[in-house]
Amino acid sequence: MRHSILDSPIEYLKGVGPLRGDMLKKELGIFTYRDLLEHFPLRHIDKTAVNTISSISLQTDFIQVAGTATSVEMIGEKRAKRLVAEIRDSTGYLELVWFQGINWVQKILHVGGEYLVYGKVSFFNGKPQISHPEIEPKTTAILEGKNFLEPIYPSTEKLKARALNGRQIGKLTSAMLAQVAERDIPENIPFHILDKLKLVSRYKAFCDIHIPRTLLDYEAAVNRLKFEEFFIAQVRLELTKLRRHKSSKGVVFEKVGNLFNAFYNHYLPFELTGAQKRVIKEIRADTAQGHQMNRLLQGDVGSGKTIVALLCMLLAADNGYQSCMMAPTEILAQQHYNGLQELLKDMPVQVRLLTGSTKIAERRKMHAGLADGSIHMLVGTHAVIEDAVQFKNLGFAIVDEQHRFGVAQRAQLWKKAVIPPHILVMTATPIPRTLAMTAYGDLDYSVMDELPPGRKPILTVQRNEMQRASVMDFVKTELEKGRQAYIIYPLIEESEKLSYEDLMQGYDQVKSYFPEPRYSISMVHGRMPAGQKDVNMQRFINHDTNIMVSTTVIEVGVNVPNASVMVIESAEKFGLSQLHQLRGRVGRGSEKSYCILLTGSKVSNDARERIKIMCATNDGFAIAEKDLELRGPGDIEGTKQSGVLNFKLASLVNDKGLLDLAKHYAAAVLQADEELVHETNAPLRHFLVSQKGKTAWSLIS
Ligand code: ADP
Ligand code: MG
Repeated sequence: MRHSILDSPIEYLKGVGPLRGDMLKKELGIFTYRDLLEHFPLRHIDKTAVNTISSISLQTDFIQVAGTATSVEMIGEKRAKRLVAEIRDSTGYLELVWFQGINWVQKILHVGGEYLVYGKVSFFNGKPQISHPEIEPKTTAILEGKNFLEPIYPSTEKLKARALNGRQIGKLTSAMLAQVAERDIPENIPFHILDKLKLVSRYKAFCDIHIPRTLLDYEAAVNRLKFEEFFIAQVRLELTKLRRHKSSKGVVFEKVGNLFNAFYNHYLPFELTGAQKRVIKEIRADTAQGHQMNRLLQGDVGSGKTIVALLCMLLAADNGYQSCMMAPTEILAQQHYNGLQELLKDMPVQVRLLTGSTKIAERRKMHAGLADGSIHMLVGTHAVIEDAVQFKNLGFAIVDEQHRFGVAQRAQLWKKAVIPPHILVMTATPIPRTLAMTAYGDLDYSVMDELPPGRKPILTVQRNEMQRASVMDFVKTELEKGRQAYIIYPLIEESEKLSYEDLMQGYDQVKSYFPEPRYSISMVHGRMPAGQKDVNMQRFINHDTNIMVSTTVIEVGVNVPNASVMVIESAEKFGLSQLHQLRGRVGRGSEKSYCILLTGSKVSNDARERIKIMCATNDGFAIAEKDLELRGPGDIEGTKQSGVLNFKLASLVNDKGLLDLAKHYAAAVLQADEELVHETNAPLRHFLVSQKGKTAWSLIS
């Protein structure tokens, strides 16, 4: 391929050189001209707008004014030393202050001189002031004819010290743009789409996002580049999916056999819901095709994903294949294992549990059994994907509660068999649809939007510290009825030690409300050895204890249908999906269940909003949408690792309309021309080829 000027090392650019070049690499990851091109401005200063000083109000944020310096003085001693200046226009006075870089300012700032000043206004003793404003002599500004929007870039303290502040980086950008021609930034969206959506060319967009002539030009540039981000991401995901459907070989599950049928007819403890039946059909159809299935199963908490997984494992066994199921925690893996063992106890199926705490001798035996095929199903934690674990013929892998697993770990599973196993990824709580379609857009998608019958909605309330005694009394009345309760403490992210202390304090407090021997309490936390965790968990499951005190290790998947109360301490510290997930631990039996959100004295607005939503709805899909709105996609659990979501400009929350358009056009393009061989798709094809490594390329040779 032709060498592009954009691939030039950044130090070649006029005004950069080796020293500043190194700084740009270290501080901003700018190695080439292209990186600089993609380092977008934070904002623009409207050089055309000069405001009067009297127009400054408490609401003013950034402002540009022009005036004459009336005083320039050094004030204070040593560390408190600062340069204070005053400028005046025909309407008023404004104070300017510098604590650093004073020498430089003193060189250009003189009483009587006229200046253009730009900065963020603050108020000090009721008077407006700008500290560290950008300042330049008015004459130069006018002489240089900067009659446009001047870009200000993200920078860092270290770069500022090297004379590369947000504004100076702009000088580099314009020096670079002066050398870049239209053919250096070739189009990548088919022209008919540009035309239809009235999008500006790629070249113009990159010029205008940096140095636009008008605000409209800038907005058009941003819009175009946002669309491009979505469009290219969608095309990539679609291509991956297409490639998989077309060319990936998958094991064929051609029949529903004896194991599946025997279980379905004799051991299934309940009638499946419509949603469960539908999803099993979808999986059945997909695994019979001869390509590898890669499917995301979205279901609300308690919708019964586990039994779906089990039926899939039986289907695999019927077709002579092994299967495995991975859970994010030991507790969960253990529970799945126990559940499976119980359900399958009268069936000729061998199930084993493999976790980090499995003894070496046992592990060896297991490895042998997996390799010779005598073990049919393996349940476990991450331990399952370790290299030492070799299957005879793994045909189906289930990843439960996906958000704890990264994409890379999913990929590990593929290596476990010559033909990659079918993979079913099950989410712990719903992920917003827009996110799911983007983050997991390369997967096929099933939804379980129905809860098993007979569930009573969980009543959720907020209570504060003052009401603690009455909350505990309420818990008592539930325990008297033979129910069980959870009391959950937050994991304090910064400090495991703090979390632990918090939990221990809580435990003592709970003990004083619920004294032995009348009550008994289980406790589980992250620092506990696995064996002890299991014992405590098991005692709660067996109803040997009434109360489970825990940190969020309990969060995912634990199933104790007799538990009817969930008390969440410091509920304001939890995220929405976490709260919903925790709440899902109750309401699993036929009894009326309760979730009590105990809050401290300081509750932020966001936290208040979260709690309000929790009290208002039990619908995990609705909660997921709200969560996305409140937090933005970057923070939604499990999506961080997924590079697909790292859009530079576009936002899944604010640009949903554009996303839909991009999806529509990406699908349309590929539907008409899967191999992208038509002339109209040449720009797109060239771009994707130039981005090799980021795209599943074998489809297009
Ligand atoms: P999740 O989808 O959150 O993983 P589980 O698979 O743990 O949910 O199921 C929650 C509870 O619902 C379990 O006790 C399970 O046995 C029960 N369950 C699942 N499917 C049904 C059904 N069709 N009818 C009645 N109960 C069901
Ligand atoms: Mg589950």
